[in-house]
Amino acid sequence: MDLYEHQARQLLADHGVLVPRAEVTDSADRARELARALGGRVVVKAQVKTGGRGKAGGVVLAADPPAAERAARRILGMDLKGHTVRTVMLAEPVGIEEEFYVSYVLDRAAGGFLAIASAEGGMDIEEVAASRPEAVARIPVDPAEGVTPAKAAAIAAAAGLPPQTVDTLVRLWQVLVREDALLVEVNPLVRTTDGRIVALDGKVTLDDNARFRHARWGAADGEHDDPLEAAAAAKGLHYVRLDGEVGVIGNGAGLVMSTLDAVAGCGARPADFLDIGGGASATVMADGLDIVLSDPAVRAVLVNVFGGITACDAVADGILQAVDRVRLTKPLVVRLDGNNAARGRALLDARAHPLVQQVPTMDGAARRAADLATAG
Ligand code: GDP
Ligand code: MN
Repeated sequence: MDLYEHQARQLLADHGVLVPRAEVTDSADRARELARALGGRVVVKAQVKTGGRGKAGGVVLAADPPAAERAARRILGMDLKGHTVRTVMLAEPVGIEEEFYVSYVLDRAAGGFLAIASAEGGMDIEEVAASRPEAVARIPVDPAEGVTPAKAAAIAAAAGLPPQTVDTLVRLWQVLVREDALLVEVNPLVRTTDGRIVALDGKVTLDDNARFRHARWGAADGEHDDPLEAAAAAKGLHYVRLDGEVGVIGNGAGLVMSTLDAVAGCGARPADFLDIGGGASATVMADGLDIVLSDPAVRAVLVNVFGGITACDAVADGILQAVDRVRLTKPLVVRLDGNNAARGRALLDARAHPLVQQVPTMDGAARRAADLATAG
């Protein structure tokens, strides 16, 4: 789960990282009062779970409370990369001397963590990494050893950060470990004109598997900003909405991922990832199909099931249940193989729905679904 900046900021503060004083509101009128309480001059910042807000006009320096109100009025309701701004944070402005980039991120391939740091923070770190890779230090962190003061000093030295940042680097690691985070990123971490090291922005991604240990985030809003994702989660389905036109349903995360690749390989774009899991019942299949079909961007659906524990006849039964429940208006391409495939195929054949077609191979089915979704 990604946190909002104001939530991440709270976690950083809890672990002793300096952050500017700030308040959050969803009202422009209130923004004016809060700006006054914060001393008049404030930075007004859109609270959305996406980066690059500064460039997109979502971060504005306001000279006085009326300007803060105007900025808040403009930013609230703004669309930033598909995220609607519902709240703004007002922060005490900080005089910036230098801007750094610091993050700790889980490196699954290496089975450890990676510290990424640069003395060229503030802007797009991806751009810096692309144009001047030598300006970005990438240092593996052994999870058992963690970031000790000595390790932090090594990270700072490699990235060209001043020794003053060492204490903050250690604290940011503590945020990662104690809060069960997969990512802690501060861009920019700044040295202020009065010589303090302050986190001006914060991004924290928590490990959902450790949610039970962090009850305070239980009711965090915006977790499923997407209504279909929320509906799927309510039914216990593993569904992620993507931005293509081929609905994808499969059993097992690996098979679904390969199906996404197969669809992309045919020149179409997957509209979602939906894993109905092992041992999926007819109801799960029907629920999943309901969700995928209710995405207006979907133009064809590809069901790719390799029956192991899941029996293909149960999947076929689920497809037929769903077809009865919703009025099917989009073509459905089904590939069934493995456990009870013959029975499953026979059930679908017997029904002979005009919009349901079967293709025996995964590549063939992906091809057909991609063609159907991109035709006309
Ligand atoms: P992002 O664009 O979504 O990463 O949002 P940030 O929180 O990083 O803000 C973008 C930029 O605004 C930062 O890189 C800073 O240069 C600037 N900024 C943010 N807060 C302050 C502040 O308190 N004082 C000053 N002078 N600049 C700020
Ligand atoms: Mn930033």
